[in-house]
Amino acid sequence: MSAKTAFQYLVPRRSMECCHGQETFEPGMRYYSTVVPDEENDYRRLDYCEACWQAHGQEACHDSSQGFWVNKVPIKIEPKPPIDRVERALELLKEYTSIEEMDEETATLAFFIAVFLAHRRRLSLRKEITKNQTLFSVYENPQTEDTFVLKQVDLSKVDLESVQVKIAAKMRDEESDAKDSVPELPKSDRRNEQI
Ligand SMILES: [Zn+2]
Repeated sequence: MSAKTAFQYLVPRRSMECCHGQETFEPGMRYYSTVVPDEENDYRRLDYCEACWQAHGQEACHDSSQGFWVNKVPIKIEPKPPIDRVERALELLKEYTSIEEMDEETATLAFFIAVFLAHRRRLSLRKEITKNQTLFSVYENPQTEDTFVLKQVDLSKVDLESVQVKIAAKMRDEESDAKDSVPELPKSDRRNEQI
Protein backbone atom coordinates (compact mmCIF):
# COMPACT_ATOMS: atom_id res chain seq x y z
CA MET A 1 0.00 0.00 0.00
CA SER A 2 1.16 3.50 -0.61
CA ALA A 3 -0.11 6.88 0.27
CA LYS A 4 -0.16 9.89 -1.95
CA THR A 5 -0.70 13.50 -1.28
CA ALA A 6 -0.61 16.33 -3.74
CA PHE A 7 3.10 16.81 -3.23
CA GLN A 8 4.59 13.56 -2.22
CA TYR A 9 4.60 9.89 -2.73
CA LEU A 10 5.13 7.92 0.40
CA VAL A 11 6.77 4.53 0.37
CA PRO A 12 5.62 2.52 3.35
CA ARG A 13 8.13 1.42 5.93
CA ARG A 14 9.77 -1.96 5.58
CA SER A 15 7.63 -4.91 6.59
CA MET A 16 8.56 -6.98 9.57
CA GLU A 17 8.82 -10.09 7.45
CA CYS A 18 9.71 -11.26 3.96
CA CYS A 19 6.83 -10.86 1.51
CA HIS A 20 7.50 -14.27 0.01
CA GLY A 21 8.53 -16.71 2.74
CA GLN A 22 7.47 -14.73 5.78
CA GLU A 23 10.96 -14.88 7.30
CA THR A 24 11.27 -12.33 10.07
CA PHE A 25 13.75 -9.57 9.34
CA GLU A 26 16.37 -9.57 12.05
CA PRO A 27 18.88 -6.80 12.79
CA GLY A 28 21.80 -6.97 10.37
CA MET A 29 19.86 -8.98 7.75
CA ARG A 30 20.16 -7.94 4.15
CA TYR A 31 16.89 -7.37 2.34
CA TYR A 32 15.72 -6.28 -1.08
CA SER A 33 12.87 -3.87 -1.55
CA THR A 34 10.82 -2.65 -4.41
CA VAL A 35 7.52 -0.97 -5.03
CA VAL A 36 5.30 -2.52 -7.67
CA PRO A 37 2.03 -1.41 -9.18
CA ASP A 38 -0.95 -3.38 -8.10
CA GLU A 39 -4.30 -3.95 -9.79
CA GLU A 40 -5.84 -0.76 -8.57
CA ASN A 41 -3.22 1.37 -10.22
CA ASP A 42 -1.65 1.90 -6.87
CA TYR A 43 1.69 0.73 -5.57
CA ARG A 44 2.66 -1.65 -2.90
CA ARG A 45 5.99 -2.30 -1.34
CA LEU A 46 7.65 -5.71 -1.36
CA ASP A 47 10.49 -6.64 0.93
CA TYR A 48 12.38 -9.87 0.32
CA CYS A 49 14.91 -11.74 2.38
CA GLU A 50 18.09 -12.64 0.54
CA ALA A 51 17.08 -16.24 -0.26
CA CYS A 52 13.63 -15.37 -1.54
CA TRP A 53 15.05 -12.51 -3.51
CA GLN A 54 17.48 -14.79 -5.31
CA ALA A 55 14.83 -17.48 -5.86
CA HIS A 56 11.81 -15.38 -6.77
CA GLY A 57 11.99 -11.66 -6.25
CA GLN A 58 14.80 -10.82 -8.61
CA GLU A 59 13.02 -12.37 -11.55
CA ALA A 60 9.66 -10.83 -10.68
CA CYS A 61 11.29 -7.49 -10.28
CA HIS A 62 13.13 -7.81 -13.59
CA ASP A 63 9.93 -8.79 -15.38
CA SER A 64 8.08 -5.76 -14.23
CA SER A 65 11.06 -3.50 -14.92
CA GLN A 66 10.89 -2.18 -11.42
CA GLY A 67 13.85 -0.81 -9.69
CA PHE A 68 14.82 -2.23 -6.35
CA TRP A 69 17.14 -1.37 -3.53
CA VAL A 70 19.17 -3.31 -1.05
CA ASN A 71 19.60 -2.48 2.57
CA LYS A 72 20.32 -4.09 5.89
CA VAL A 73 18.02 -4.09 8.86
CA PRO A 74 19.72 -1.61 11.19
CA ILE A 75 21.32 -2.99 14.25
CA LYS A 76 19.75 -1.21 17.16
CA ILE A 77 22.14 1.09 18.91
CA GLU A 78 21.10 1.85 22.44
CA PRO A 79 21.03 5.59 22.81
CA LYS A 80 23.56 6.77 25.34
CA PRO A 81 21.82 7.98 28.45
CA PRO A 82 22.38 11.69 28.76
CA ILE A 83 25.01 12.23 31.35
CA ASP A 84 23.69 14.29 34.16
CA ARG A 85 25.66 17.47 34.61
CA VAL A 86 25.71 16.90 38.35
CA GLU A 87 27.41 13.53 37.85
CA ARG A 88 29.80 15.08 35.39
CA ALA A 89 30.63 17.87 37.80
CA LEU A 90 31.36 15.21 40.40
CA GLU A 91 33.72 13.43 38.01
CA LEU A 92 35.47 16.68 37.31
CA LEU A 93 35.85 17.37 41.01
CA LYS A 94 37.43 13.95 41.48
CA GLU A 95 39.82 14.70 38.68
CA TYR A 96 40.80 18.07 40.14
CA THR A 97 41.27 16.75 43.63
CA SER A 98 43.49 13.95 42.39
CA ILE A 99 45.99 16.56 41.22
CA GLU A 100 48.82 16.52 43.72
CA GLU A 101 49.61 20.20 43.66
CA MET A 102 46.59 22.19 42.66
CA ASP A 103 47.27 25.63 41.35
CA GLU A 104 45.22 28.61 42.42
CA GLU A 105 42.92 28.47 39.43
CA THR A 106 42.22 24.76 39.76
CA ALA A 107 41.55 25.22 43.47
CA THR A 108 39.00 27.89 42.62
CA LEU A 109 37.30 25.70 40.01
CA ALA A 110 37.24 22.75 42.40
CA PHE A 111 35.77 24.78 45.22
CA PHE A 112 33.15 26.23 42.92
CA ILE A 113 32.14 22.74 41.79
CA ALA A 114 31.94 21.53 45.37
CA VAL A 115 29.65 24.40 46.35
CA PHE A 116 27.54 23.66 43.29
CA LEU A 117 27.34 19.96 44.19
CA ALA A 118 26.49 20.75 47.78
CA HIS A 119 23.71 23.00 46.61
CA ARG A 120 22.43 20.13 44.47
CA ARG A 121 22.62 17.89 47.54
CA ARG A 122 25.12 15.61 45.90
CA LEU A 123 27.83 16.52 48.39
CA SER A 124 27.52 17.41 52.04
CA LEU A 125 29.69 19.93 53.76
CA ARG A 126 30.96 17.93 56.73
CA LYS A 127 33.56 20.09 58.31
CA GLU A 128 35.74 23.14 58.00
CA ILE A 129 39.35 22.89 59.02
CA THR A 130 42.18 25.35 59.29
CA LYS A 131 45.65 24.40 58.29
CA ASN A 132 48.55 26.85 58.09
CA GLN A 133 46.03 29.64 58.54
CA THR A 134 44.14 28.52 55.49
CA LEU A 135 40.56 27.47 55.69
CA PHE A 136 39.47 24.22 54.05
CA SER A 137 36.03 22.72 53.56
CA VAL A 138 35.57 19.00 53.86
CA TYR A 139 32.85 17.74 51.59
CA GLU A 140 31.58 14.21 51.51
CA ASN A 141 29.72 12.27 48.88
CA PRO A 142 27.31 10.44 51.18
CA GLN A 143 26.67 7.72 48.63
CA THR A 144 30.29 6.69 48.21
CA GLU A 145 31.81 8.19 51.34
CA ASP A 146 34.43 9.90 49.20
CA THR A 147 35.70 13.06 50.83
CA PHE A 148 37.06 16.16 49.17
CA VAL A 149 39.12 18.66 51.06
CA LEU A 150 39.06 22.01 49.34
CA LYS A 151 40.66 25.30 50.08
CA GLN A 152 37.92 27.81 50.62
CA VAL A 153 37.73 30.51 48.03
CA ASP A 154 35.92 33.78 48.48
CA LEU A 155 33.62 33.43 45.51
CA SER A 156 32.55 37.06 45.81
CA LYS A 157 36.05 38.00 44.67
CA VAL A 158 36.07 35.64 41.74
CA ASP A 159 34.92 36.25 38.19
CA LEU A 160 32.20 33.60 38.33
CA GLU A 161 31.39 33.85 34.68
CA SER A 162 34.90 32.93 33.62
CA VAL A 163 34.90 30.09 36.17
CA GLN A 164 31.67 28.75 34.70
CA VAL A 165 33.00 29.04 31.17
CA LYS A 166 36.16 27.12 32.11
CA ILE A 167 34.23 24.36 33.82
CA ALA A 168 31.76 24.09 30.95
CA ALA A 169 34.63 23.85 28.47
CA LYS A 170 36.27 21.15 30.55
CA MET A 171 33.02 19.20 30.69
CA ARG A 172 32.56 19.53 26.98
CA ASP A 173 36.07 18.14 26.45
CA GLU A 174 34.99 14.97 28.13
CA GLU A 175 31.58 14.65 26.58
CA SER A 176 31.19 16.46 23.31
CA ASP A 177 27.42 16.16 23.18
CA ALA A 178 26.90 17.60 26.62
CA LYS A 179 24.40 20.35 26.65
CA ASP A 180 23.43 22.70 29.35
CA SER A 181 26.57 21.82 31.22
CA VAL A 182 27.31 25.16 32.79
CA PRO A 183 26.86 24.80 36.50
CA GLU A 184 25.32 27.78 38.15
CA LEU A 185 25.13 28.81 41.72
CA PRO A 186 22.15 30.49 43.24
CA LYS A 187 22.87 34.05 44.25
CA SER A 188 22.85 33.17 47.93
CA ASP A 189 25.90 30.94 47.43
CA ARG A 190 27.89 33.53 45.60
CA ARG A 191 29.78 34.53 48.66
CA ASN A 192 32.02 32.72 50.98
CA GLU A 193 30.04 31.12 53.71
CA GLN A 194 30.99 32.27 57.16
CA ILE A 195 31.62 29.72 59.82
ZN1 LIG B 1 12.03 -14.80 2.32
